[in-house]
Amino acid sequence: RADVIDGEAVAASVRESVTAAVGRLGEAGVTPGLATVLMSDDPASETYVRMKQRDCEQVGIESHHVEIDTDAPQSELFATIDQLNEDPAIDGILIQRPLTEGVDEPAALRRVDPEKDVDGFHPENVGRLVTGDPRFVPCTPLGVQRLLTEAGVEIPGSDVVIVGRSELVGKPLANLLLGRDDDADATVTVCHSNTEDLANHVSRADVVVVAAGVPRLVTGEMLAEGSVVIDVGINAVGEGDDRTLVGDVDYESASEVASAITPVPGGVGPMTRAMLLRNTVNAAARQAGVEIDS
Ligand code: NAD
Repeated sequence: RADVIDGEAVAASVRESVTAAVGRLGEAGVTPGLATVLMSDDPASETYVRMKQRDCEQVGIESHHVEIDTDAPQSELFATIDQLNEDPAIDGILIQRPLTEGVDEPAALRRVDPEKDVDGFHPENVGRLVTGDPRFVPCTPLGVQRLLTEAGVEIPGSDVVIVGRSELVGKPLANLLLGRDDDADATVTVCHSNTEDLANHVSRADVVVVAAGVPRLVTGEMLAEGSVVIDVGINAVGEGDDRTLVGDVDYESASEVASAITPVPGGVGPMTRAMLLRNTVNAAARQAGVEIDS
C-alpha cells in the first residue's frame, strides 16, 4: 500500500523556516506585511482569507485586510491596489479570487506591483517563470514540487503527467517542473478536458499530479505500479451530514497501486498556504535588500 505524503507535516517545516526567516528580517528592522483584498460575498473566500491571516500571525508576518463592498465601482478596487503598491509596510498583495462579478479580474492582477505579487499571477511573473528566470511562482505548484522532493522523488528525468491546464495550477506547475534545476528537469505531459485517452497518458507516468476539479477522475486502474500521486483537487460531495471533501483521485484504489500518495484534505492544501508565507518573506527580503535563506 502507498505511503501517505503528509502535507501537514511538510507545511509545518516550511512554516518553521519561514518563522526563522522572519526573525532574521526582524534583526534587520523589517517586519514583513501581507495585504489581503476581498471584494466578494463568497463565504468560502471569506474563510480562505481568514485562514491566510491566521497563518501570517503564526509566523510573525503582519496581515492587513482590506474589504471592498461588492457594489463599489471597480475603480475603488484599483485605487486600493495602487495604495498598497505604494505602502512600504506592505510586501505582498493577495487579491482573493474570484472577485465579484463584473470586475475585470485580469486587469486587477496586472495592477499589482510585480515585486509584491506573492501569488505569482502578474504577467511579468508568469513570463519570468516561462522564460526560466522565476521570481514569484504560484503557491500550489511550489507546494506540489516541495511535496515531491520531500517524498524522495527523483524529479529530473522522470515522466510527470499533469491533469489540468489552469493558470493557477497546471500551467505554472508544468513550467516549474520543466526548469533545469535539481528539483525539476522532468519530462512533462499536460492533459486536459480535450485529451483523448487520459488513462493511456496516466499509465505511463512516474508522477501523476491531478488538478482537474473532477471528483475521483483518476483511479488505481489507470496508474502505473509504484507511481507517485499528488492530488490537488478539493471537491465537496454529498449533502447535509454526508457532505465530505474528496480529491480528484480515487484514494482507495490509487493507494493500492501507487508507491506514495497525498491525502485530501491534508496533502496539497496546507502546502499552498505555507508557500504563500514563504513567498511573502521572500518579497519582504527582496524589497529590503536583505539576504535570507528560506
Ligand atoms: P480549473 O477548473 O481552472 O481547471 C481544471 C482543469 O482540469 C482544466 O484545465 C480542464 O481542462 C481540466 N479537466 C477538467 N475535466 C477534465 C477531464 N475529465 N479530464 C482531463 N482534464 C480535465 O481548476 P483549478 O483552479 O486548476 O483547480 C483544480 C482543482 O484543484 C479544483 O478541485 C480546486 O478546488 C483544486 N485546487 C486546490 C488547491 C489546493 O491548494 N489544494 C489550489 C488550487 C486549486
